[in-house]
Amino acid sequence: MGYQQLVLAALTVVVSACHTAGTKPGSQEANGERTAERYTQPSSVAPEGPATYASCVNDPSWIAPQKPFRIYGNTWNVGPRGLGVFLITAPTGHVLIDGGVPGPGGAPLIEANIRSLGIDLHDIKWILNSHEHCDHAGGITQLAKDTGAQVIASTASIPMLESGGHNDPQYGDSGLYTPMRVTRTVTDGESLRLGDLLLTAHLTPGHTRGNTTWTWLSCEGARCLNIVDVGSLSAPDYKLVDNPNSPDIVKDYESSFTLIAALPCDIALAPHPGMVDFWDRAGRREQGATDAFIDPTLCRAYATNARKSFDKELTKQRDAAASVKR
Ligand SMILES: [Zn+2]
Repeated sequence: MGYQQLVLAALTVVVSACHTAGTKPGSQEANGERTAERYTQPSSVAPEGPATYASCVNDPSWIAPQKPFRIYGNTWNVGPRGLGVFLITAPTGHVLIDGGVPGPGGAPLIEANIRSLGIDLHDIKWILNSHEHCDHAGGITQLAKDTGAQVIASTASIPMLESGGHNDPQYGDSGLYTPMRVTRTVTDGESLRLGDLLLTAHLTPGHTRGNTTWTWLSCEGARCLNIVDVGSLSAPDYKLVDNPNSPDIVKDYESSFTLIAALPCDIALAPHPGMVDFWDRAGRREQGATDAFIDPTLCRAYATNARKSFDKELTKQRDAAASVKR
C-alpha cells in the first residue's frame, strides 16, 4: 500500500470511528483509548529506533496528516488527525501543548502544520505536556530542540518524561521515546504567565501519575471563553485492584473526576479528539453551526461518563479479586 493510500485508509478508519452512534464523551468506546492507549508489544530497542516508533503508534490516526485550523480566538489545532496538539498564540510568544508520537509522524508533522500557519517555530516559548505517555510526549524532545522552547510539566510526570517513558506503572517499558529535560515544573492550581498568556495547571492523576488538565482563556473580540484541555480519564486494561505500582490509583481517579466536572468550561479539548466529540463538532461548524465547539456541559459530561466506565471496571476487578480470596 502506497503512502497516500495508507493515509486515506487511516482517515477512513478515523472518520468512521467518529461517527459511531450511541457513544458518549468520556466513554472508552468514544475516545478510542481502549485500543489506542494499550501497548501490547513491549519494545526493548533503543528509544530512537524505528521499532519504537511503531510500538507507540497503535492507531494510524495518530500520524495521519490534518490541516491545522483555528478552534477559537488564539487557540489552534496543530496535531495529526487523531491526537490533540494545541497551539495558543500571542505576540509575546506562543505555547504548545503536547508533542505527538516519537519519530517522523510526531514532531515533523506538527512543525509543518505550525509553519503552514505562517508561524515561526522560534516564537514558541513553552511546550506543556498533558501526560507522559508516548502518544503525547514522544515528540517533545525534538520540538524543544527545534523551537528552543522550555518544557513544562507536573512534578509527578518527571520520572517518565526524563527517562523516556520507562517504568510506566501500568505498561512498564512498552511506550518509549527520547528522554527530555523538563525545565520547569507545576503544582496543582498553579498559573503560569508568558507575556499576554495565562495558563493554569490542574493535576488530574490516575491515567498517569503526572496527568495534567490545562486551562486558559481565549477571546474573540470581547467574548472570552474558558478553554480546557482535559486530562485523560480512561483506564484501558489497567490493573486497579491490588496493584503495588499504583496503590493510590482509585483515590487519584476519584479526585480527577470531581475536579474536571467542576471546571469552568466553555470549550473542552482533549489529548484524544474522540473524548470530547471534537471531529463531530468540527464537522457541525463546517456546516454553519458557528458555536459547535462551545458546550459548557461537556467537561462534566466527560467526567461523568468516564467515572461510570471506571466504576464498572473497578467493580468487576474487585469481584474477581474477592472470588479468588474466598
Ligand atoms: Zn495516555
